[in-house]
Amino acid sequence: MTLPPNVYDAEPIPETARAEIEHLLRTGDLFRYTAPENAPVTLLEQEFAAFLGSRYALAVSSCSAALFLSLKALDLPRGARVLIPAFTFAAVPSSIVHADCEPVLCECGPDYRIDLEDFAAKLPEVDAVIISHMRGHTSDMDAIMAACDAAGLPVIEDAAHSLGTTWNGRNIGTIGRIGCFSFQSYKLLNAGEGGILVTDDVDLVARAVIMSGAYEQTWQKHKARPGDNSADLEQAFARWQNRLPLYNLRLSNMAAAIIRAQIPEIPRRVRDGRRNHDRVAAHLNDSPWLEVPEKLAPEQRAPDSIQFNLAGLSEAETRAFVEAAAARGIKVQVFGLSRDNARAFWNWQFLGRDWDLPRTRAMLMTACDVRLPARLTEAECDLVAQALVDAVAEAMDRAAAA
Ligand SMILES: *Cc1c(COP(=O)(O)O)cnc(C)c1O
Repeated sequence: MTLPPNVYDAEPIPETARAEIEHLLRTGDLFRYTAPENAPVTLLEQEFAAFLGSRYALAVSSCSAALFLSLKALDLPRGARVLIPAFTFAAVPSSIVHADCEPVLCECGPDYRIDLEDFAAKLPEVDAVIISHMRGHTSDMDAIMAACDAAGLPVIEDAAHSLGTTWNGRNIGTIGRIGCFSFQSYKLLNAGEGGILVTDDVDLVARAVIMSGAYEQTWQKHKARPGDNSADLEQAFARWQNRLPLYNLRLSNMAAAIIRAQIPEIPRRVRDGRRNHDRVAAHLNDSPWLEVPEKLAPEQRAPDSIQFNLAGLSEAETRAFVEAAAARGIKVQVFGLSRDNARAFWNWQFLGRDWDLPRTRAMLMTACDVRLPARLTEAECDLVAQALVDAVAEAMDRAAAA
């Protein structure tokens, strides 16, 4: 019998990281502000900004830290209300609580994207918006930006799972005022931990840099991209000198060296991830009980997992399907069914209130999540897809016989 692939293993870190890591080990030069210039964290920021086509990037300790600093950089008053999709990871509302703001949850539809009707209804109540492109599913950014621009509301993109995704040819993370990315191990670039924010707004980046822990005049080591004028950046730093708290959410040179070596891998990972996803999606859609929602037309995706809905299965049948898939070696997570799931909004008890979001709840009770890393071969993808199709057929046969 052919064993199913292990979808949890990471890819090896490219050998090209080794020389810089050896250097860091030999010199102990791990702090981003020790070297006079060209520290690995600085180079990462320059390369990442260039890759996305943003003016500025700031590398920090996590995407959650980037979201927190984004809210702080926007200078939102204590208690400001921040709209987020209810389908996201618990770290997103947590970053809002951390910034002394209040999350407002918006409904998501069966295609995992923001429900624009509920979005429009709640927009008048809020002071800022975080668009979490959960699992890399892009909500309608044309409609969202038009509504937020008309209301004068700043948009932060949580692009933790969207590196390499485009919308009308534009990189996700560069459409809102600020974009935040993650380097945690289950994302496209893996440093174990880490994050980065990008923006074209000089005042926002100056504030975020200082609050990330650029104490005294260490901000002088943050430059504009080569060829871009640094004068307005220096003026912005001078404006904010000594006026902001230092939250110390910096990234280390070791993490930056590990990430930099993976940047040339992005196009391959995006291409193979999309190939794997679309291959498995086509296979799953052949089953009468499995539905993979279509992407939106302006979207080019960069998936490293697949989400699909169970069509008309009861909760007992859903559990039987999860068991039958596990017996075939494939772990399926149904967001709303697996215990303590951090992506089910009713488990965010730290919010101190319940949210009545029937559409999102219904979606979370039937939406399945399976990892599908770019390194899988097409044959391995076929094994995963066939196991899922067989598992649901078995679960429904058993239900019919009972
Ligand atoms: C992983 C993830 C985060 C959190 O990223 P960290 O770097 O672990 O803080 C936030 N939002 C989404 C959509 C994620 O997938």
